Amino acid sequence: MTVAPPTDGVLVDRYGRVARDLRVSLTDKCNLRCTYCMPAEGLPWLAGPELLDDDEIVRLIRVAVHQLGVTEVRFTGGEPLIRPGLVGIVSAVAALQPRPRISLTTNGIGLDRLAPTLRTAGLDRVNVSLDTLDAERFTRLTRRPRLADVLAGLAGAAAAGLTPVKINSVLMRGVNDDEAPALLRFALAHGYELRFIEQMPLDAQHGWDRTTMVTADEILAALRAGFDLRPDPVERGAAPAETWLVGGGPARVGVIASVTRPFCGDCDRTRLTADGQVRACLFATEESDLRGALRAGADDAELARRWRTAMWGKRAGHGIDDPTFLQPVRPMSAIGG
Ligand code: SAM
Ligand code: SF4
Repeated sequence: MTVAPPTDGVLVDRYGRVARDLRVSLTDKCNLRCTYCMPAEGLPWLAGPELLDDDEIVRLIRVAVHQLGVTEVRFTGGEPLIRPGLVGIVSAVAALQPRPRISLTTNGIGLDRLAPTLRTAGLDRVNVSLDTLDAERFTRLTRRPRLADVLAGLAGAAAAGLTPVKINSVLMRGVNDDEAPALLRFALAHGYELRFIEQMPLDAQHGWDRTTMVTADEILAALRAGFDLRPDPVERGAAPAETWLVGGGPARVGVIASVTRPFCGDCDRTRLTADGQVRACLFATEESDLRGALRAGADDAELARRWRTAMWGKRAGHGIDDPTFLQPVRPMSAIGG
């Protein structure tokens, strides 16, 4: 393999991985304050002029799809549903040829109202984050009393055909780690696909602790006590979730074990922050500034060249278990989870 980044073609790194899946953060702001993500008082938000505007976002996604081989676009944040231009951005991306698959990761608040419009604009699927079914716990965990809104959002997404509707759950010891079976029963009853995500060191407060995090093994043991889980025969590919058939299928449950069973060798992600920085990884400590280049008048070919160079430098793995691991300066909400 050459040592210089490629001058054309797809987003390949020096380990031969190709990034086809683009995660775009539309805002760093949020209407919840999940304890594993943000402090109670929020964060110093990006100032208006620092954010890419809607046209800039669509232009960079167009470069990714037309010139860099991106086939999947996922909008995230912060909370993407609070971005005013969301529907217009989705419909502009849905008009690209070849049309990428378009999905959204959201806390679900307001999704009951927005789901039909987003579906019509071209959104294919949603992932809704839900860590507990207990209203009081929800309020403690997210610091806002919004469980009913999230449940309504899930139902609205399913009714609008944003399927399969997936649920993301993070379990925390002593907070909601007894809820794995109840969350799975709920998902099965409603036809949602549940995925547990191991808690990662991406909180602004730096409160993550490897020795107390709830591991994939623990989650699976808790589920196996109440459900028959069998390995999913479907090839995993670059999907972060390892999945199991529940009760012989077709229902599935997944675990994204980023910490205890890292899948960096198969990663196909590239990330764009709300202020126009390319990140090769959630845990990258380097970013590459596309906004500056774009606003200085760079053409599409130059933006693509910079993006390729940024991805070429992607590290082999996140190194969370390495003693020299450094948590990225930006928290999850500012990177785009
Ligand atoms: N606000 C949206 C939401 O909550 O779905 C999108 C952004 S949020 C940062 C994306 C996902 O990251 C959510 O599923 C959330 O649970 C997860 N997340 C946030 N902080 C995390 C952490 N420290 N470890 C693991 N997952 C985390
Ligand atoms: Fe907001 Fe999502 Fe972070 Fe919760 S996890 S505070 S909903 S960005």
